Amino acid sequence: MSSHPDSESSGASTALPIHIQGLTKKYGQMFALDSVDLEVKSGEFLTLLGPSGSGKTTLLMAIAGFNRPDAGSIRFGETEVILTPPHQRNVGMVFQSYALFPHMSVAENIAFPLKLRGIAAAETAQRVEAALTTVQLDGLGDRDIEQLSGGQRQRVALARAFVFRPRILLMDEPLSALDKKLREQMQIELKHLHEQLGVTTVYVTHDQREALTMSDRIVVINHGKLTQIDTPHNIYNHPANAFVADFIGESTMLPLEHDGSGKLFFQDHLVETDFKTDAARNWSLVIRPERLFMADKKAVDSEKAIVFSGVVRDFVFQGETAFALMSINDKYDLAFRFGTDSSSSQNILQAGDQVSLGLNRSDVIIIPQGDDS
Ligand code: ADP
Ligand code: MG
Repeated sequence: MSSHPDSESSGASTALPIHIQGLTKKYGQMFALDSVDLEVKSGEFLTLLGPSGSGKTTLLMAIAGFNRPDAGSIRFGETEVILTPPHQRNVGMVFQSYALFPHMSVAENIAFPLKLRGIAAAETAQRVEAALTTVQLDGLGDRDIEQLSGGQRQRVALARAFVFRPRILLMDEPLSALDKKLREQMQIELKHLHEQLGVTTVYVTHDQREALTMSDRIVVINHGKLTQIDTPHNIYNHPANAFVADFIGESTMLPLEHDGSGKLFFQDHLVETDFKTDAARNWSLVIRPERLFMADKKAVDSEKAIVFSGVVRDFVFQGETAFALMSINDKYDLAFRFGTDSSSSQNILQAGDQVSLGLNRSDVIIIPQGDDS
């Protein structure tokens, strides 16, 4: 969204941190949220990422005040809000379904939260104009909602969510109804809008790439429990367990054996030389397909990289990258992915080819086996 010269007129007031402790919500015997602890920093863009049914919406609605948790605490800054009704929490909300008023114009939709708050007409008009500029809908204030495209409707919903300068903005899969191109464009725009407004933002998506693109930090949620909270970089490069490694990005997991003196092996490949563990645990090696490279076994320094050899079992061209599976001893399939530029000898791979793939030791990821960390 374009940057507005007068950020006061479109922007939020000071951001607030959110402190969540022991938040639990049951539906019958099922824990939709299971003792969730979460600190959302003032002004950050935090994304709840998890599969369908993992509890994302339940958590967001608890923050907004639309559902009543069975136990736990939610504080906005110093203020406990668990008993505060939604309209007094003063948070902005955006939903996948837009939830606009169809019988009102664009400007009337955006003005609605200002009317509720008794803001004078002149100031309302001025703030609505500024909000329209921020979401790149200048001049469209008089349009009917029906006359807008999906992307434009979602911009109106956004403008309505921040026009009253909430200190917290909550968004539940706001881009899911848009097609891929527009969705990717809006991801970048939303990120810029957040930078401009500086409002504490909790964003929900089930799309890992969207989460990686937009977030300061990502919370991975599964079965109502928070699995990992970290930056996109660390979530991808240092997944805490198999669930995170599998849900975010592509990966191959290979079982490791511990020799009792700090060495970890995959078959006869030495993976780690000084690994500290309690012996009761089993470990897996996680390999990101794009981190593998075609290797000449003799030319690779084994201090720096591990080399796996096998037979190409499957090979597919997918445009910007190609994807292949290499079978190791007919027992494990190693996924690998590489660029498709014309200079690349990797273009001429075929099923049945004998290949060696290198993995730099700095790209080694080791996780405990099983989904729990
Ligand atoms: P997500 O947004 O991650 O897809 P939800 O928070 O909507 O997941 O749902 C979490 C779990 O709680 C799911 O198993 C869902 O079926 C259940 N659930 C959500 N809302 C209700 C409800 N009103 N009544 C009963 N079960 C619900
Ligand atoms: Mg949901």
